[in-house]
Amino acid sequence: MKDLFDLQGKRALITGSTRGIGLLLANGLAEYGAEVIINGTNREKALAVAEELKQKGFKAHAVPFDVTNKEEIEKNIALIEQEIGPIDILVNNAGIQRRHPILEFPEQDWDDIINTNQKAVFLMIQAVGKYMVQRRAGKIINIGSMQSELGRDTITPYAASKGAVKMITRGACVELARYNIQVNGIAPGYFKTELTQPLVDNQQFTQWLCQRTPANRWGNPDELIGSAVFLASKASDFVNGHLLFVDGGMLAAV
Ligand code: NDP
Repeated sequence: MKDLFDLQGKRALITGSTRGIGLLLANGLAEYGAEVIINGTNREKALAVAEELKQKGFKAHAVPFDVTNKEEIEKNIALIEQEIGPIDILVNNAGIQRRHPILEFPEQDWDDIINTNQKAVFLMIQAVGKYMVQRRAGKIINIGSMQSELGRDTITPYAASKGAVKMITRGACVELARYNIQVNGIAPGYFKTELTQPLVDNQQFTQWLCQRTPANRWGNPDELIGSAVFLASKASDFVNGHLLFVDGGMLAAV
């Protein structure tokens, strides 16, 4: 039972892993033994990040592609499967944020958010899922958010996309569990990353957040690693369709 969390011999593709939460998760999964595949749209950055991981002694590759582009997804997933090896763990992490009041929200921003945060999760599950089904094994982890459950000023499209991530997780679980594929999600509370930098810098927001969160603080991104290792490993083989909130208790509190 001691190897329940061991990821030796497993290969993980983490979308959007050139910085922020994705990079943290890539490091975390690698620490537990996984070979990791770094992704983002910025090719040079992905190559540099994979190189840094290799310097640390981890097995890492860079496969940059745009997760909103079905053709690019299919081409690159086939390339990984054939030239690097089977994807055992897929972490759908790539995501973007745009903020505008709902009545003024530009249509293009809505499309970009939905395409990146929602449709890409679906397309990635289709592309990687078909290989996992053949092998009758796979772990899929979708990154949700507090906005999978809660609304907030100026980010309605983001909340819509993250609510959908919850339901894609459940739907994919229902259809893929019979093939020994576990599809779960992690819903981070508020973590300090580039994406949330404008909020971190906003004193008023930070004060509100600390009062609103039972833990009274921002989350540190490395506090997400345990959940990712759990959902990527044998330890979670009968956990399916679940969205694990890592939020310092925020969702539990009014
Ligand atoms: P960052 O902005 O720090 O990083 C986003 C990553 O996604 C980058 O690696 C970026 O690389 C990549 N990316 C963006 N668009 C695409 C695309 N079309 N194709 C491929 N890669 C892409 O974000 P965070 O680390 O903060 O967020 C990561 C995830 O966690 C998101 O899904 C976010 O919604 C979620 N989240 C974050 C929270 C937080 O507090 N930060 C809280 C709750 C959820 P590149 O620029 O090269 O494309």
